[in-house]
Amino acid sequence: MLLWYRNFLFMFNKLFSLFSHDIGIDLGTANTLVYVKGKGIVIREPSVVAIHKKTKKVIAVGIEAKKMVGKTPASIITVRPLRGGVISDFDATMAMISHYIQQVYEVGSSIPMAFSRPRVVIGIPSSVTEVEKRAVWEAALSSGAREAFLIEEPMAAAIGENVSVFAPTGIMVVDIGGGTTEIAIISLGGIVVSKSLRTAGDDMDLAIAHYIRLRHGLLIGEKTAEELKISIGTAYEKTTKFKNRAAIMEHGAQGQDLKPKEEKVEEKVAIIRGRDIETGLPKSLKITEIEVREALSPVLTQIIDAIAGVLEDAPPELTSDILEHGILLTGGGSQLFGFDHLIVERTHIPVIRSEDPLTSVVRGTGKVLEDPSLLARVKVIGGLK
Ligand code: ADP
Ligand code: MG
Repeated sequence: MLLWYRNFLFMFNKLFSLFSHDIGIDLGTANTLVYVKGKGIVIREPSVVAIHKKTKKVIAVGIEAKKMVGKTPASIITVRPLRGGVISDFDATMAMISHYIQQVYEVGSSIPMAFSRPRVVIGIPSSVTEVEKRAVWEAALSSGAREAFLIEEPMAAAIGENVSVFAPTGIMVVDIGGGTTEIAIISLGGIVVSKSLRTAGDDMDLAIAHYIRLRHGLLIGEKTAEELKISIGTAYEKTTKFKNRAAIMEHGAQGQDLKPKEEKVEEKVAIIRGRDIETGLPKSLKITEIEVREALSPVLTQIIDAIAGVLEDAPPELTSDILEHGILLTGGGSQLFGFDHLIVERTHIPVIRSEDPLTSVVRGTGKVLEDPSLLARVKVIGGLK
C-alpha cells in the first residue's frame, strides 16, 4: 500500500514538473533576483516592501516600493525585511516571496499555477536562524511551491561561479552584499568555516554620510551616499601603474614611453546636495574621491579583518589551498574600485573577482535547479511538506 502511494506521488510530481516553471530566488539583503529554469534571470528588484502601517496591507514590492523610500506619508512605511541578514519583518519577507513566485506565473505562463506548481530553490544569508529558514521555506510552500529548498548564499555563489565545490580543495568565497558580507570556506561540498558579517555595502553608505556630516556639516540621505560610493568610491588610490597599464594596452608600444612613477592620476570629484545642519537650508558641496576613500577606509578594514579571522579559523591544509587558488570575490559591494587590490595587499592572497557579481547567487540557484543530484548534495533544508 505504502509503495503504491509512493509511486503515485512520484508520478504526480513528474507530471507537475512537465508544466511547471522551476524557480531559483536570491533573497538578498539589498536585491532579490529570480531565475526561471529554461529562461534565465527574469526578475531583478530591490528587496523592499511598502506596507500600510495600520492595516499591514502590502502596497508595493520591489522597484515600486523603493521609489517610495524616504517619501512616504505617515500611514505608509517601507521596509527592507532582510536588511541586517536576519529577517526583521516576517510578513514583509513572506509578501516578497509570494509576490515574486506569483509574478513568474502571471507574466510567463499560460498554465495556472494550481496545475503546474513549481519547485523553488532559495538562497538566503547564512546568518538567518533555523526558525527563520523554516519560515521562508513555509512561505514558499504556501505561495504555491510544490517543493522548496533553501541553500546558503556562499555555496550558491560558488556554484554560480562554476567552482567545483565537491573537490577536496579549500575554496574561499567572499560575497559583499548590502547588509551582510558572507565569508565562507568550502570543501567537499560543505561549508567548513564561515562568517556572516553584518558589515557590507550599506555600512559603506552610512560611513560616507557620517563623514560628510562631521566634516562639512551637511546632512545627506542614504541614497545620495550610495550614489557617491558608486560614482567616485575607491578602496585604493588609483596609481599611475593602473593608468599606464591601461594606456599601454590602448596605445601599444607608444604607451611604453609614458613615465610611470612621476605621474599622478587626477582624483574625481562629485557635487552633492544635502541640508546644512546649521541653517537647515539645502546646500551643494563638492566632494573628492580622496574624502570618500577616507570615509570608507574603516568599513573596508572591518571586512578585511573578518576575512583574516575566517582564514585563521580554517584548518591549515585548506588555508594553503586558498593561498594557491585565491579568494573568490563577489556581491555588489565587490565592485568598489580597488577593493580587490586592497585585499591582496593586506592578506597577501590572490583575489579573483566575479565578472557578474550581482548574479552569482541566483545563477547558482539556477544550476541547482537544473541538476537534481547537485540539489540533493547541497541543500540546507527542504523537500516536500
Ligand atoms: P545583497 O546580496 O545583500 O542583496 P548585492 O549583492 O545585490 O547585495 O549588492 C548590493 C550592494 O552593492 C549595495 O550596497 C550597493 O550599493 C553595492 N554596489 C552596487 N554597485 C556598486 C559599485 N559599482 N561600487 C560599489 N558598491 C556597489
Ligand atoms: Mg547577495
